[in-house]
Amino acid sequence: MKVIKSINEMQRTAFEVREKNGRIGFVATMGALHKGHLSLVDIVKEKADVIIISIFVNPKQFGISEDYERYTRDVEQDIEILKDKKVDIVFIPDTYEMYPEGYNSYVNVQELGEVLCGKSRPGHFKGVCTVLVKFFNIVKPDITIFGEKDIQQAIIVKKMATDFNFDIEVITGPTIRENDGLAISSRNIYLSAQQRKDAPILYKSLVIAKEIIEKGERDSTVVIEKIRSSIEKKDVKIDYIDIVDKKDLTPTKSIKGDVLIALAVYFGSTRLIDNIQLRVES
Ligand code: AMP
Repeated sequence: MKVIKSINEMQRTAFEVREKNGRIGFVATMGALHKGHLSLVDIVKEKADVIIISIFVNPKQFGISEDYERYTRDVEQDIEILKDKKVDIVFIPDTYEMYPEGYNSYVNVQELGEVLCGKSRPGHFKGVCTVLVKFFNIVKPDITIFGEKDIQQAIIVKKMATDFNFDIEVITGPTIRENDGLAISSRNIYLSAQQRKDAPILYKSLVIAKEIIEKGERDSTVVIEKIRSSIEKKDVKIDYIDIVDKKDLTPTKSIKGDVLIALAVYFGSTRLIDNIQLRVES
């Protein structure tokens, strides 16, 4: 497995791979790798010849009061994990390499980036899109994959790839969960023992909401209140609970078609997100 730190070398290598070795599959990560990340590697391996993973904690997608400084970093361990996974190339640029002094260009997907997580994290998706445009130009992937745990991100990246005519297939992989249903996240390690015990309530309440809808409830307010009341029994602060159309992320009053139930909840200072997708025929 090759470890590349310089953008020049990565671009040259990607160019050569595309000439000689076939399709490049790419997974962008912020490191602290877990089963969720590795599931994406497994999926993309089936669809590409050379697998490139980036590890970069992107400062541009963190707000000033967010957890950029404390975000878990363990590059040595990540490299070992990716060697075991038989990944071909790991790209680990440093912050200065990605954003040299004077860096001043940004990419934004309007509207989709302003709802759900975008409301409480202004500028977050602008940071995500900006770094991904850079990665797409550096790594030159044929196919890239994003986790449905961050479904808004996946939808925004697909839109950006379409709008900017990137010749890249953008696919998604399912959310990988712990046995008790908690979506695996690099942020779960910040949880106290009690918070970790409480956190599966997020997925549990989403599953209950799905069941209520499957039994015939169509009023979003009723379903959202049901989720809220079950989550509020724990010591948490709810950021948002929303039911939205999967295509444009607009809120649905009456639940119909392809919808997402998405939420973000603070356990102390740790903000966890989760979502569930469902299709309601009538
Ligand atoms: P991150 O390192 O948090 O930026 O995540 C890198 C990629 O892994 C993103 O596409 C995430 O959506 C995805 N990911 C993170 N956690 C999970 C999970 N539990 N299941 C599936 N994909 C995930």
